[in-house]
Amino acid sequence: MLTHLVLAALLAQQPGTSVSQFVSVSDSVVALTNVRVIDGTGAPARDRQTIVLEGGTIVSVGDAASAKIPAGARTMDLAGRTVMPGYVMLHEHMFYPSGGAIYNEQGYSFPRLYLAGGVTSMRTAGNMSGYADLNIKKSIDAGTMLGPTIDVTAPYLEGPGLPIPQVKALRDEADARKMVNYWADEGATSFKAYMHITRAELGGAAQEAHKRGLKITGHLCSVTFREAASLGIDDLEHGFVVASDFVPDKKPDECPAGNAVQRSIATLDVNGAGARDLIADLVRRRVAITSTLTIFETFVASQPSAPSKALDALLPEARRQYEQTRAALAKSTDTTWNILLRKEMQLEKMFADAGGLLVVGTDPTGFGGVVAGYSNQRALELLVQAGFTPLDAVKIATLNGAKYLGRDAKIGTIAAGKQADLIVVRGDPSQRIDDVENVELVFKKGVGYDSPKIFDSVKGQVGLH
Ligand SMILES: [Zn+2]
Repeated sequence: MLTHLVLAALLAQQPGTSVSQFVSVSDSVVALTNVRVIDGTGAPARDRQTIVLEGGTIVSVGDAASAKIPAGARTMDLAGRTVMPGYVMLHEHMFYPSGGAIYNEQGYSFPRLYLAGGVTSMRTAGNMSGYADLNIKKSIDAGTMLGPTIDVTAPYLEGPGLPIPQVKALRDEADARKMVNYWADEGATSFKAYMHITRAELGGAAQEAHKRGLKITGHLCSVTFREAASLGIDDLEHGFVVASDFVPDKKPDECPAGNAVQRSIATLDVNGAGARDLIADLVRRRVAITSTLTIFETFVASQPSAPSKALDALLPEARRQYEQTRAALAKSTDTTWNILLRKEMQLEKMFADAGGLLVVGTDPTGFGGVVAGYSNQRALELLVQAGFTPLDAVKIATLNGAKYLGRDAKIGTIAAGKQADLIVVRGDPSQRIDDVENVELVFKKGVGYDSPKIFDSVKGQVGLH
């Protein structure tokens, strides 16, 4: 009852103020002058540029000395800053691990945090709350809620065996086909197969999704990467450390017991024929790989803790849970994940070098510490740790994501005619990737949002809502 009263009070608020109080640039014509541009294509950064935005679109990019600034434009001198395309992140969630086997929907804090961190488009890649993600997307699109443009992934397509009560267990292939069509009718625009799905269910789901022009990805175990590729999957989440292809005597449609998959990757020769052939097969079949190094590094004690600002965003109980687990991890002598993280980085680099479409996301799961917004910035730093140049890391986080979504004509790079989705940071991420943390402004469709103010608005709330 109290909840209803609170909701009524929220609904009675001035429509739009929850968004407008964070808008710092809303002029119809804006010129960003004297700025360094990293355009998202992988091309070198260009200094002293001027970008003109009009009506939500980039109308010109060029040398500041010769740029034509339209009369009446709001001119912002951004000397010392770099402008990059807004991130297109493909393994995001609206939920956070709050302890036990339940994932709490973070429908208040996460959309804000993603936008504040520089994410202007994202795929949710798995959904624990059915209609919540769809309704959040609608509210964001309607301008009544802060957040990125969302490709909503339907609830997981999963077989029996997952100890998470929020997830449905598919009965058979017909059920998988039915579920795809049901959620597509409701507005879901992508699908995700999960660990215990069968080949028949995955194949059926992929066919139904493709009939509707939609894509399907998977975090797989019972189905190998090669099998999934031959069944038409479009993308594989997490990369190679979850591939069950290298488990000896793997039984069809069964997720190998215990940590057999991890052991098989820990002992895999990444330069051997097995790894190279799998990469070649995925590249040939145009299956993308989603890098999620941010979640994997939380399992490695020698990797840094979540940054203090991200910890400040957590509910005190959620913070304690993260810190206690991390302290226990530091005492562990098991170094399997150190090896797995290093191998995953090598394999992702090999996949990209072989011509594969590597995209990136953050996966805020595990035991916590992967906090939306902050984690998206961290994802770029980890791609650089994996051996990519900063410019390639930006490309993976922008243009590659846009390509996967089939939206690269509109988003993912900085060029005349593209949607004005931009991140303004202090410093120069092309020289020092950590500068991606210094976000001042995020433009979505030409509207500039005050990133620090949005971050401040959700302090202490992640884990709660
Ligand atoms: Zn995930």
